[in-house]
Amino acid sequence: MTQKRMHAKMPEKIPRKLRGTGVSPGLVIARVVVLKRQNWQAGWYQLPPGHIDGEVHRFKLAIVGAEAELHQLREKMAGDLTEALSIIDSHLLMLKDPMIVQRTEAIIREHNVNAEWALGQALTEIKARFDKIQDSYIRERYVDIKHVAERVFDFMTGQQSSEQPENQEPSILVANDFSPEDTLRMQSGNVCGFLTEKGGLTSHTAIIARSLHIPAVVGLEQITSIVRDGDRVILDGASGQVIIGPTAEEIEDLQENIQRKHAFNDALDEYIPLSAISLDGVPLRLSANIEMCEELDAVQKYRSEGIGLFRSEFGYFSKASLPSEEMLFSTYKKLLETMHPFPVTVRTLDVGGDKVLNGCPGTTAWLDRERNPALGLRSIRFSLFEQDLFRAQLRALLRASVHGHLRILLPLVSALSELREAKELIGEVMDELRSKGIGYAENVEIGMMVEVPSAVVMADLFAREVDFFAIGTNDLIQYSLAIDRGNQYVAHLYEPFHPAVLRMIYQTVQAAINGNIPVSLCGEMAGDPLCAPILIGFGVDELSMRPSLIPLVKRLLRHSSYEDLRQLSGQVLRCEDSEDIRAVLLRTYDQFYPREFLDYE
Ligand code: PEP
Ligand code: MG
Repeated sequence: MTQKRMHAKMPEKIPRKLRGTGVSPGLVIARVVVLKRQNWQAGWYQLPPGHIDGEVHRFKLAIVGAEAELHQLREKMAGDLTEALSIIDSHLLMLKDPMIVQRTEAIIREHNVNAEWALGQALTEIKARFDKIQDSYIRERYVDIKHVAERVFDFMTGQQSSEQPENQEPSILVANDFSPEDTLRMQSGNVCGFLTEKGGLTSHTAIIARSLHIPAVVGLEQITSIVRDGDRVILDGASGQVIIGPTAEEIEDLQENIQRKHAFNDALDEYIPLSAISLDGVPLRLSANIEMCEELDAVQKYRSEGIGLFRSEFGYFSKASLPSEEMLFSTYKKLLETMHPFPVTVRTLDVGGDKVLNGCPGTTAWLDRERNPALGLRSIRFSLFEQDLFRAQLRALLRASVHGHLRILLPLVSALSELREAKELIGEVMDELRSKGIGYAENVEIGMMVEVPSAVVMADLFAREVDFFAIGTNDLIQYSLAIDRGNQYVAHLYEPFHPAVLRMIYQTVQAAINGNIPVSLCGEMAGDPLCAPILIGFGVDELSMRPSLIPLVKRLLRHSSYEDLRQLSGQVLRCEDSEDIRAVLLRTYDQFYPREFLDYE
C-alpha cells in the first residue's frame, strides 16, 4: 500500500512474471510439479449378462473406500482446524447424496453399463443442474461434488487423486484447482507452496492454506500450461507475484529478501513481550483482525491485547450450508474464553458486495438483480433485511457474552435510523433471552464501523448513540474516492494518503474524543508502517491489524514520542495532495525509523 500501484495492462505474450491473488503469505523459491488430472471419465462398456449387481457392489465399495480415506484424513489432521473439518464433513455427507449414489446405481441398472461411466453421467446431470443456478456461490459448490466423485472414481480405477510428488525436495504444486482435502494432505507432504488457476480469497482451499501457513497464489490464468514440471518459480503469497525461471539476480534478491526478513522478524520478536507504549508514556491498544478461530494461536503468539475485528462472515462462507446458532455460539464462546480478559470485537455479518452468501433463503433473487453490489444490500442493510439470520447471530453472540468481554460491531452504518433499528433488534433479542431465563452479559458494548462518508459527517451524532467507533479505512477509501477496492484497473487511484481520507479519519477521531467514546482503526492502514504513525498522532485508542504485524507497529510506537506524532499528523493535515503527504512521511522515516520497516511484507 505504501507504493503507488501501477496501471494494470493486458499482457501481450506469455509473461515470465505473473500476478494472481495472494491468499496465504510467505516467500518461497522451488521447482514446480504440475498436476494434471488425467481425463477421469472412463470409457463406456456394456456389462456381461448377470453382472449388474456385482457392478453396483463395486461402485458401493468405492464409496466405502472414499469414506474411509476421508475419515483417515480427518484423524490425521493436526491442530485445531474447525473449518477444514467441516469441509471434510460436508464431503462425507456428499458421499451419501442420492444425486450421486442412487443416480449412479440407477444408470448402471438402466443402461447395463460400467460404474465409472455411470458415475460420469450422474456428474454431468448434476453439473447441468448447477449451471442453471444463478447464485454464483451455490453454483461453485459443484466443484466440491466433482472432487467427491473423483475420489470415488479413483477407488474404482486404483488411481490416487492429485498425486503429490514423491521427491525429497520441497516443491510448489501447480494445478487448475485443489480440493480442500488435497490442500490438507499437503500438510504432511513435501509441499512448500501452491499455485492454482481457480480460486479466490474466500475459497475453501485458500482458507485452509492460511490455516496451514502454506504460501499460495490463486487465480493465475492458464498457469498449468505456462509452467512445466521442474521449472523454478518464485512465489510471493502476500503480493500474489510469481516469477517463472527467475534470473540469478532475482534469486539473489529473493534470498537477500528472505534473510533480511528473518533477521528483521527476529529483531521484532524482542518486542512481543513489551507493552505498547510511546517514549513519552502514552499507551495504545494493539489488537488483531482475524476471520476464524484457527488464527487464535497467532493472536496469542503476538500477545494481541484483544480482537479488534472478527470478520464473522467467514464463518458463513466456508460451510456447505448456513451455520446453526449453536455453531456460531461455540465459535464466539471460544473466542471470548481464549481472549479473556481482553475485549473481542465481533463484527456482525458483513455480506453483500463482493461477498455473496451461500444458500440464504430469499436472497438469491435480489443478489442476481443487483447491478452495483458495493452500493447495494450489503452489511447492516442485509442484516436488517434478513432479520431471522441477524437475530440468530445476535442470540449466539449475546449467549456467548457471559464468557468474556464482548463488543458487537455493526458494519457499514450510514444513517442514524439504521443504527437505531439495529439497536432495537439487539434490545428485542435481549428481551427474548431474558424472558427465557437465558443469561447474557449486561456490559456488552455496541459499536459501529465508520466506513462511509455519511457516517463521518454525522460522527458527532453517532457518537452519542454507540459505545465505540471502529474506522474501516478499506471501505472508507473505496466509498469516499469512488474506487472499487477490488478492481485492478483503478487500483492505482486507491489512495490512503488522499487528504480527504486523512481528514475524514481525523474528523471521526475528534468526534469520538468529544463524544467521550473510544475509537479504533481496523482497515489495512492500521498495520502499514507508513500510515500507523499519523493514525497514532490523530489520537486513535486502538489499531487492529493482522496479528503478525503487531510487533512492527509496537516497535514504531515505542521509538516515537506521542507529541512528535501529534505534530507530524498536524503537518500532514495541512498538505494539499498525497504526494506531499508521502514526502513528509518519508522524511520523518529517515529521521526516526529504519527504511526496512517500509517493505516489511
Ligand atoms: C474496512 O472496510 O476497513 C474493514 C476493516 O472491513 P473489511 O475490510 O472487512 O471490509
Ligand atoms: Mg469494511
